[in-house]
Amino acid sequence: MLLGTPYYPEHWPEERWGTDARLMREAGFARIRMGEFAWHRMEPVEGQLDFDWLRRAIELFGQYGLKTILCTPTPTYPAWLHAKYPDIHQVKSNGCVKEFGQRQDACKSHPGYRLYARRIVEKLLQALGEHPDVVAWQTDNELGCHGTARCYCRYCEAAFQSWLRERFVGDIDALNAAWGTFFWSQDYDGFHEISPPRDTADRTGNDGQNPGLVLDFYRFSSDAQIAFQREQIELIRRFSPGRTITHNLMGLFSHIDYFRFACDLDVVSWDNYPFWTNGTNRPPPPLAHDLMRGLKRKPTWVMEQASGAGGWGVFSATPQPGQMRLWAFQAVARGADMISFFRWRSCRFGREQYWHGILYHHGIPQRRYEEVKQIGIEFCALSSELDGSVVESQIAILYDYDSLWALESQPNVVQGFGYAEMAQRFDQALSRLGILVDAVGVASDWGGYKVIMAPCLHVLTPEVADRLKSFVQDGGTLIVGPRSGVKDGENAVVNELLPGLLRELAGCTVTEYDAFSMIPGLEMHVEDGHGKTYRAYALADVLAPEAEEAQVLLTYADHYYAGEPAAIGNPYGQGTCIYLGTVLDDAGIRDLLGPIARSASIPCLDDIPECVEVTRRVKESQSYAFYLNHSADPVRVNLARPGVDLMRGQRLEKRHTIPGLDLVIVKEQRGTTV
Ligand SMILES: [Zn+2]
Repeated sequence: MLLGTPYYPEHWPEERWGTDARLMREAGFARIRMGEFAWHRMEPVEGQLDFDWLRRAIELFGQYGLKTILCTPTPTYPAWLHAKYPDIHQVKSNGCVKEFGQRQDACKSHPGYRLYARRIVEKLLQALGEHPDVVAWQTDNELGCHGTARCYCRYCEAAFQSWLRERFVGDIDALNAAWGTFFWSQDYDGFHEISPPRDTADRTGNDGQNPGLVLDFYRFSSDAQIAFQREQIELIRRFSPGRTITHNLMGLFSHIDYFRFACDLDVVSWDNYPFWTNGTNRPPPPLAHDLMRGLKRKPTWVMEQASGAGGWGVFSATPQPGQMRLWAFQAVARGADMISFFRWRSCRFGREQYWHGILYHHGIPQRRYEEVKQIGIEFCALSSELDGSVVESQIAILYDYDSLWALESQPNVVQGFGYAEMAQRFDQALSRLGILVDAVGVASDWGGYKVIMAPCLHVLTPEVADRLKSFVQDGGTLIVGPRSGVKDGENAVVNELLPGLLRELAGCTVTEYDAFSMIPGLEMHVEDGHGKTYRAYALADVLAPEAEEAQVLLTYADHYYAGEPAAIGNPYGQGTCIYLGTVLDDAGIRDLLGPIARSASIPCLDDIPECVEVTRRVKESQSYAFYLNHSADPVRVNLARPGVDLMRGQRLEKRHTIPGLDLVIVKEQRGTTV
């Protein structure tokens, strides 16, 4: 377990660095991240390079036991580069330029930007790549943030055309057929005629454009970010061998396919700011943790963990006493091996004046510093137990960016239905049962999972459909959400009964679909046939069983399809597929998933208070159960197993009271009866 923080030596007088290093050492810090926004300090004048100040900082902090995670400084380019290339900026879908002043706004396809970005990375690596205090690298910073993964400039237009030429092997007729360009007379005679999906007539942000064009542009834009990072990674591996390479991802940020992006990284790290849910008394939603861990199915680092209120113009509530620590341990409980608190000291200048750090602007240690210091002491004490332990899941959520992007562009209904929202519902329902879920991709390794939940396989290829069939055939349980199998890999609607490629597996067809939430005053319910009724939201796939053994699990209770099936289970091979035709409320999802988990011999907890989160890390014969109380009040919980509280060293039996905004970590014997 490691504690770290980003630090900006370029923001503070050099005579202050030593004070900060001492305070960090006293709080148990072992890692420091530097350099990601310091291009101008490294190259104040074109070609005039200065890394001495950075070397002095690395060595000073090194003397205090802090090793450096060094960053490539490419997200913020110097003003002289802007002056040299006035068209270096990205362009929005409406044709407006993203002017100088933010970050990430240089176009990744601009040849001048690419030339100078590569050069500064190479020079930095040549200067410091083999420094013994540099132990890891972060590429760039939050690639794609502020909507910058998608650029509509003329350089990106040319790059998009090349990307399409490769994808369709130079065959423009194949592209026309795939996108159905005969609609509205959009047939192309050559790739040179294709533009990014810019604003049209009265529509903004791709809304008026051909769905095939939009999906391919989203894929191209994601690939462009991946290629930009890959160039840096290749340089780092060449000039700084043996160092861990990471990038700070952004949880549920949706404009980059993070599964493909993470393939090039050694470790996934990410930025975790749960303060926007502050005050709810409920655990911050776990999906971002579960996705970041699921990208590589490996432990993660949190590169930026909230250490104060955040915001630019307005700021969030300040984390209450204990809350920073609790959120940090939530990340640990869900698979993080390093927590790096952003930032060390709040900056007096710049747009992030109100993105608060551990210290306020004055730099005097106060409450939040003391809380971090406590975490440092605890990490040190817990390391011998928790180092090497991992999160193990037997249930996965499929997180599919193609389907997510298709729904982002055409959400089907105004609100209440989206890929991430559906995934959150499934994940939170299982979290309430004490079950940990990995969010994995359609091409990930699914080994070890007994149950897979697919919130909405809106875009479905034959390859993925075949994988799902094999999974169920071999004994797995698959739960598929509404509006699945609707589109092919080109974002065209399939030419067959829905759910298309899933029809045989699901053992049912969709006879109608209805966006009932558009009808004012209509409240939709579903019934389980045993006296239980649940609310349903957004839209309904009205189902009809087709396979002989298909069983109706839920029926609609309202509107003209009252009495028709809303969920159908179908035995297939040695497993089962369940098609759920609507967005169920939390109780409905829990009642659907609980029995599935139990029949797959996955332990469930029925009596977890709403404010409590229960997770587990395991190592060899040991199991470490985390019970986190997100309420400010003490709460009494039933422990799944007795054991020793690692935080306090005392033996805990069946029932235990956890103080407000606090936790216990119970060391259990793995495999003992629940
Ligand atoms: Zn561009």
